[in-house]
Amino acid sequence: MTKNVIVLREMRSLPIPGAAPRPSGVAPADALGRSLHDLRISVTDRCNFRCTYCMPREVFDADYQFLPHHEILTFEEIARMARLFNRLGTQKIRLTGGEPLLRRGIERRVAMLREALPAVDLTLTTNGSALRAHAQALKDAGLNRITVSLDSLDDATFRAMNDADFPVSKVLQGIDSAAAAGLAPVKVNMVVKRGVNDDQVVDMARHFRGTGHIPRFIEFMDVGSTNQWRMDDVVASADIVDMISRQFPLEPVDANYDGEVAERWRYRDGQGEIGVISSVTQAFCSTCTRARLSTDGQLFTCLFAQRGFDLKALLRQGMGDDEIAGSIAAIWSMRADRYSEIRTAETAKQRKVEMSFIGG
Ligand code: SAM
Repeated sequence: MTKNVIVLREMRSLPIPGAAPRPSGVAPADALGRSLHDLRISVTDRCNFRCTYCMPREVFDADYQFLPHHEILTFEEIARMARLFNRLGTQKIRLTGGEPLLRRGIERRVAMLREALPAVDLTLTTNGSALRAHAQALKDAGLNRITVSLDSLDDATFRAMNDADFPVSKVLQGIDSAAAAGLAPVKVNMVVKRGVNDDQVVDMARHFRGTGHIPRFIEFMDVGSTNQWRMDDVVASADIVDMISRQFPLEPVDANYDGEVAERWRYRDGQGEIGVISSVTQAFCSTCTRARLSTDGQLFTCLFAQRGFDLKALLRQGMGDDEIAGSIAAIWSMRADRYSEIRTAETAKQRKVEMSFIGG
């Protein structure tokens, strides 16, 4: 038995709160007073990249056991879960993974979600490798916006970081296709790791200035337990803002909504905006309104969680909508996660769920 199978089995054995109340509307606030606003759905645990900070090749190798097909939520199950979360107050859904564009029929999934939830804000995060071929169909299916990950504009650095020898040019083509299809503004995520790509932050900002796209600089996080995270490798967002601002002066902008992950900054000369995501140096747990549904239908209430709640079991046992919604509400009401506020070098060593499994 391989190590990843052990991790998954432990998670599945978690109990669901029984005799849950019938939800009359939105989910109650969690134990720290936070509402349930966003849902991230991981549609596959597979990815064609082996980013060194996310799915290092030494662990996610040819012997790694990804989820078998029957463990993965079907399109219909995902649409049902999305409806139940929406009934409980979720207004924003992000499809992610793994690499979501690897899941066959992803456009059909988007169309099903759009049909079930006409008013929900529906977005997707992708590595961009297959975006050129999918962008228009995703837009036609009802996707609102897209986020593309791109860690460097320098081809050698990017190929080394994705560890799949994938070139920058194809991701840039994907970004162009997304913009042309109307999936705008395109957000571009760059994970910044000291000594690896921190010298390319200003280049990234410069490249997207004036395009309408929004680069977002993410602090390297201790998600999962395979990426050899060290605090020394983190470049603080404040330093990133400083680096960019020295070249292109920036000023802060108000959040679009309470609990927005990225802190927004705009160029004083009107050439657009950037975002920084500071999960390590400026924890934003107190405003975190995100739930995550793993590829195999477990509910995780924190990106750094060690265990999830097996909602798929409830679906496949034939439970009704009220009962499942009641269980979700009960789980949410008990939520007290605030990992980033209590992070230490010791907690960073804990065995946490991998990001590719619960979705970034
Ligand atoms: N495959 C898709 C992609 O590449 O965007 C979606 C999944 S990926 C896990 C989602 C986001 O998480 C990406 O922007 C990725 O760069 C980010 N990410 C993964 N591991 C991270 C880490 N250790 N620290 C910070 N961000 C990370």
